[in-house]
Amino acid sequence: MIVINAPLKYREEIAHLFEMCKSSLLPASSTEPDIDVIVATDFKSECYRLSRPADKDIFDKLGTPDLNGRVILPQRDEPFIVLFAARQFESDQYQHTVVHEFVHVFDYCHFFTEFGNSYAGSDEDRDQSYFTEFYYWSEHHAKRSGIQYFAIRKYIEAGGEVLDNGAICVSDVDFRTKHLLSQLERVLASSIASDQLNHIYWEVAEELVQYYGRAAVFQGLDSAKPVDPNFPADEIKDAFGPSAIKLYWILHSNQDYKTAVKSLPALRLLFEEMARNFAIVHLGRCQFTHINWISQAKMAQESIFDKRL
Ligand SMILES: [Zn+2]
Repeated sequence: MIVINAPLKYREEIAHLFEMCKSSLLPASSTEPDIDVIVATDFKSECYRLSRPADKDIFDKLGTPDLNGRVILPQRDEPFIVLFAARQFESDQYQHTVVHEFVHVFDYCHFFTEFGNSYAGSDEDRDQSYFTEFYYWSEHHAKRSGIQYFAIRKYIEAGGEVLDNGAICVSDVDFRTKHLLSQLERVLASSIASDQLNHIYWEVAEELVQYYGRAAVFQGLDSAKPVDPNFPADEIKDAFGPSAIKLYWILHSNQDYKTAVKSLPALRLLFEEMARNFAIVHLGRCQFTHINWISQAKMAQESIFDKRL
């Protein structure tokens, strides 16, 4: 059951977008998850208040993120909490944010139904279920789905067309290439302390999968060339190595849950290769052969690289 705690003027639209996501993403074998939706004027405070203790520890150290939306996953029998920043609703930005967060809910609902809630389990549970790899796939999936909905709603009216190969064809797409480039250049230009490396790696990797998710909306399945004319292949390879380019195509060719789950071992190999490359670029050496894939929370608290290097 969904409970929407939002001003009346937003409630109907949130409920509509929820039903739309549910109809295409709720697994047939699952019952509808319990979801509390909250629209917060002060996103950071609400995000901190609602987060679990391990996340609060991270926020105490690194600051609470000021996001457009965030899903707080259930620990056990609790509902999913979907938190939106009220400012999103001041423009049509909310359209892709709301879809984005609901896609996460159904992704994790599917994942927990199949593998159990490894998020609430031990590091080993998360490691065995490929939780981290799934997290990054879901980030790509949610970004793609949100932007796709937004693009169809906005751009088709403005004269764009959906091609036979599934891509949306519009002119003047903002791939946010400059944003990704600035992130890549920032990390490439700065010296990163070894105890920060792990956190920064995952932060930039998240930017990368989100950029890939946005591009995937416009990328034909039959094309072997990235759709963004300014695709920053050299900068991506400089930061993460050639595996990061393979990541583009693996994520793009595993767009639904079922194929994505099968691709998780391959994603792990790519993220490991990328992490190794990232460490070599910044520390000049990297000797580990396997990253201990532990929870997001713990990853930010301690450096995997420190233990392995
Ligand atoms: Zn997300």
